[in-house]
Amino acid sequence: MILPIHEVGAPVLRGTARELSVEDVLSDGVQDLIASMRDTMLAAPGVGLAAPQIGLPLQLAVIEDRADYIAKVPEAQALARQRRPVPFHVLVNPRLTVLEGAGIAHFFEGCLSLPGFTGVVGRALRVRVDCLNEKAEPVTIEAEGWYARILQHEIDHLKGTLYIDRMDVRTFSNKVNYERYWAAAR
Ligand code: ZN
Repeated sequence: MILPIHEVGAPVLRGTARELSVEDVLSDGVQDLIASMRDTMLAAPGVGLAAPQIGLPLQLAVIEDRADYIAKVPEAQALARQRRPVPFHVLVNPRLTVLEGAGIAHFFEGCLSLPGFTGVVGRALRVRVDCLNEKAEPVTIEAEGWYARILQHEIDHLKGTLYIDRMDVRTFSNKVNYERYWAAAR
């Protein structure tokens, strides 16, 4: 089921999401919610979706960066961003650690809760995430490049943080002007 996405200004995007118990994760309600979040992310389309974006203050997010999305961006851009396919997966109660020595990359990013806009955000290039998966099993993810950016962006949502809080505000652009002036440069 495709769910409505809450946009900037909605208080749910600014709150702290609550943790889920193992029983919560395994419940029919949360399993159905995960399926609906996947449908919603695919339909948008987007590479990540956090529960506050569909109005629920829960520490739950889904991520998938598909090869067919990456094929639509210029190869040089995908390479510069270290963007590689990421299979669908679920983050529950994630804890993010920036890995020692990880550099920072500055790229435009966007958000389904701020449709039509983009801005440059500096993000760590290598992170570790400890969380539960959709079966409530503990997992550790080590990620780099664009995947590390997606993880940072989605986990920020669970703390009420949006990319506009972290962006270089003078780079804020609508998508039309991004395509006209900046897409080729960045
Ligand atoms: Zn977002």
